[in-house]
Amino acid sequence: MGVEKRTTKEWQKLDSAHYLHPFTDFKGLAQKGSRIIEKADGIYLWDADGNKILDGMAGLWCVNLGYGRQELVDAATRQLEQLPYYNSFFQTSHPPAITLSRLLAEVAPEHLNHVFFAGSGSESNDTIIRLVRRYWQLKGQPDRQTIISRVNAYHGSTIGGATLGGMKGMHDQLGLTIPGVVHIEQPYWFGYKGDLDRDAFGLDTAGALERKILELGAENVAAFIGEPIQGAGGVIIPPATYWPEIQRICDKYGILLIADEVITGFGRLGEWFGSQHFGIKPDLITFAKGVTSGYLPLGGVLVGDRVADVLTTDGGEFTHGYTYSGHPVCCAVAIKTIELLRDEKVIEQVKNVTGPHYAKRWAELADHPLVGEVRTTGLMGAIELVKNKQPRELFAPTGDVGFICRNACFANGLVMRSVGDTMISAPPLVITVEQIDEMARLARKCLDDTAAQVL
Ligand SMILES: *Cc1c(COP(=O)(O)O)cnc(C)c1O
Repeated sequence: MGVEKRTTKEWQKLDSAHYLHPFTDFKGLAQKGSRIIEKADGIYLWDADGNKILDGMAGLWCVNLGYGRQELVDAATRQLEQLPYYNSFFQTSHPPAITLSRLLAEVAPEHLNHVFFAGSGSESNDTIIRLVRRYWQLKGQPDRQTIISRVNAYHGSTIGGATLGGMKGMHDQLGLTIPGVVHIEQPYWFGYKGDLDRDAFGLDTAGALERKILELGAENVAAFIGEPIQGAGGVIIPPATYWPEIQRICDKYGILLIADEVITGFGRLGEWFGSQHFGIKPDLITFAKGVTSGYLPLGGVLVGDRVADVLTTDGGEFTHGYTYSGHPVCCAVAIKTIELLRDEKVIEQVKNVTGPHYAKRWAELADHPLVGEVRTTGLMGAIELVKNKQPRELFAPTGDVGFICRNACFANGLVMRSVGDTMISAPPLVITVEQIDEMARLARKCLDDTAAQVL
């Protein structure tokens, strides 16, 4: 028994009869039918009709080592046999969680030596809210409650994560959000209509943090949270001036700096963590997705010495945790993922070879009539679709053309995702130079097919 064999049509019918998908218009999907993905290997997927598709999104930014890695399957199988589950409540622990904690401290920036485990990125950000408020209580400054985030940020979909995030559509459905979270502008140069140059714009946008701190009173501000590069918001790569200025402002007012590295962690930008790429020293790092290459769900928070020293010396119970915090099988797969990233020098390859090659191939797409801007860092990239290049004219309403382009991608055997009219991609980190060439060829074909429909 288990998973049965059926035709695409049969799957689609059962799918809409029973399965409520995440972030989906249920009625719209029922009319169209889902794409049924049946198997995968390396950087490729196959649908139930046997079509081969290049996965330019690494699943959902997570399958960094590609599909079909037997080492990860074996690590999970061995751990399932040895100890499939035990908790870390009530003063117990187990070798997989301990080993992974040590390994994370080893690959993380020097000042991050402790970890709290969760089951996902969203849960990890909920944990962050708890940790940050606990820290300031222990420090005797309980008024420091407010966390400053950014418009268009994605920090997950639990109520905590969605509150921290800056997605308007999510807030509109959420009703009352958790108090003590405010949002400032995002460093989105392409979307900016003023006349500051890139670097001046980066400084000015970071300056919004200082303006907000002064408005609220620094004595009320607990932390700032940001993705080194906003992912789900459309791969928003900030100007080089942005993050150093954010760091300076956090230091000046003593507020905690949180980097949500659920996407940028574990090699996506050619360093173990995106914070290293941007030269910042966060007090807390959220991770998930790539830590297990997506094979099993695991997330967590890397806790810097500044916070850990207070948490571990002040005593008293931290009244927070999850049944699956430090799940042994997920930890075993994470350990193997990190070992493979390290031993196969995957991250060095992204930094020195595949990242620069992807940047070059993507930059070549900028000559296309439909393309207003291309930007990449490491293996994370965006293509902005425009109606007219010079003077720049965007499509209205936003999103229809992106949607057409996303469908053209599927039709041509490529997964790219659309965010409004921005086409984003983040292929598995094991993609080769030749496969990047193939991806760029497919992307140009998708742009041509889209242009034929909309220009
Ligand atoms: C995906 C994501 C999350 C949420 O992770 P889940 O595992 O889906 O809960 C949080 N932050 C960022 C930056 C993400 O990309």
